[in-house]
Amino acid sequence: MIVLKSSAELEKMRAAGRIVAETLTLLESLIVPGITTAELNSVAEKECQRQGAKPAFKGYGGFPYTICSSPNDQVVHGFANRTPLREGDILSIDFGVLYKGFYGDSAITVAVGELDEETQRLVTATRESLERAIEKVVPDGRLSDVSHAVQSWVEPKGFSVVREFVGHGIGGSLHEAPQIPNYGQPGQGPRLKTGMTLAIEPMINAGVPGVKILEDGWTAVTQDGKRSAHFEHTVAITDNGPEILTQV
Ligand code: MG
Ligand code: MG
Repeated sequence: MIVLKSSAELEKMRAAGRIVAETLTLLESLIVPGITTAELNSVAEKECQRQGAKPAFKGYGGFPYTICSSPNDQVVHGFANRTPLREGDILSIDFGVLYKGFYGDSAITVAVGELDEETQRLVTATRESLERAIEKVVPDGRLSDVSHAVQSWVEPKGFSVVREFVGHGIGGSLHEAPQIPNYGQPGQGPRLKTGMTLAIEPMINAGVPGVKILEDGWTAVTQDGKRSAHFEHTVAITDNGPEILTQV
């Protein structure tokens, strides 16, 4: 069942989303060659404390960090560590909080210094695919229109859609119905309604779509070692169209 949120609940989700957005903006501003994901994780943790928010991922199924930090060929769910990021790397950061009973969830992929042209293309296409998907989040739209918007944007550019992980409904729980794949034919699935809140999150690979999980049981990496990018927003469907809750 897809839970519809009242305007009072939506107001709380705006507050959670704002904390997520502000924290990601802060983390992005700190990313330069030499910084470590452990440092970024501790900044995010302090920011949660300061704002009175609970990190959504730490402890979730045993995940040990406040942020998921996934450089280069890591797709999602990477562990923070003390390896300095290098010029030309990309880093995907996925971050969520629980605040006053509601969740916000968002992800960005950030350039460390200057990127090579192919990597820049991947990051840009992934961000654009999320923008295209969000345009489909309108009352009376169909869920798979959102999925199709991602796939049809990135595949003609030579990139591939990760199948193993999907977007999701979000609200009083981090993961609610429906699941939102980043691929599929348009015009299918549930009809979208005002009051739905969705976390849309394309994960796009430069090479093959397949992923494998490292021995830590969490970190997903591309099967071919090529790079992967990830962007996510929590979006509410309103009578006036999509409202991005995780944007400053
Ligand atoms: Mg996320
Ligand atoms: Mg998510």
